[in-house]
Amino acid sequence: MFETLSDRLTSVFSSLRGKGRLSEEDINATAREIRLALLEADVALPVVREFIAQIKERARGEEVSKALNPAQQVIKIVNEELIEILGGQTREIRFAKNPPTVIMLAGLQGAGKTTLAGKLAKWLAAQRNTPLLVAADLQRPNAVTQLQVMGQRAGVPVYAPQPGNGVGDPVEVARDSIAHAQRNNHNIVIIDTAGRLGVDTEMMQQAADIRDAVSPDEILFVVDAMIGQDAVNTAQAFLDGVGYDAVALTKLDGDARGGAALSIRHITGRPIMFASTGEKLEDFDLFHPDRMASRILD
Ligand code: GDP
Repeated sequence: MFETLSDRLTSVFSSLRGKGRLSEEDINATAREIRLALLEADVALPVVREFIAQIKERARGEEVSKALNPAQQVIKIVNEELIEILGGQTREIRFAKNPPTVIMLAGLQGAGKTTLAGKLAKWLAAQRNTPLLVAADLQRPNAVTQLQVMGQRAGVPVYAPQPGNGVGDPVEVARDSIAHAQRNNHNIVIIDTAGRLGVDTEMMQQAADIRDAVSPDEILFVVDAMIGQDAVNTAQAFLDGVGYDAVALTKLDGDARGGAALSIRHITGRPIMFASTGEKLEDFDLFHPDRMASRILD
């Protein structure tokens, strides 16, 4: 991810090397090149506009630093603005005062929710938590089994409807899981919910019903970074239909252009909390805007 953007920006910066100071023309030409690079990377237009306006303003106003040449100054500005657009700070989980802390996952089918549930459970367990995974995706026939496999790999128990009870009611399963967690000293509950291939009202309503039944401390919108501009549209639809506190970006290991990662914070106003970078349970961490910016500018 970001290879093309990275290469493009590198060539923009290298064209500034050797310049004594930046003229208005240099700044405009540079801004134009950065704009093209971002659009090519599939960054949403309003985000590109805002980004470029900031870069121009700062490049014009920047004090002439003796320590940095013009190219270095532009790199510094772009780096700082990238960090800003990616959310500035790392967003940590807000734990409930009275356990269990309830984390609900929502997103389209295939976004990587079930995988992320396992990753998150393992990551939290490694930090001396006692998470419980909850299978409230009863739409897809294999979803419960898949979560059970994840739980096994993560070494974390899974709460699921008993076989033989029919398909079960996801709202009931989610609600009952909280009492189960309290009885069994789980300090965190991670609820996997159903997704569809596209946004639909029934799915939204089910997620909203689960939300109302368990009052999550954190609702995480899980989104595949590979789907480009669609990620932004889906993010908006879930914001309107269910609402969420933060975003988990998956498949950042893919070869997509990275526009979703760069747009989603600005468009939704919600921070990116987690980054998922592979199919293994270890390919997961908190999202660090500064590290991501460095990767882009590497
Ligand atoms: P769900 O339908 O939202 O629960 O999605 P799944 O968790 O079943 O994931 C869908 C597919 O994406 C599976 O084949 C996962 O192995 C794969 N996947 C999930 N997260 C990642 C990731 O970060 N990187 C890659 N390359 N694949 C992922």
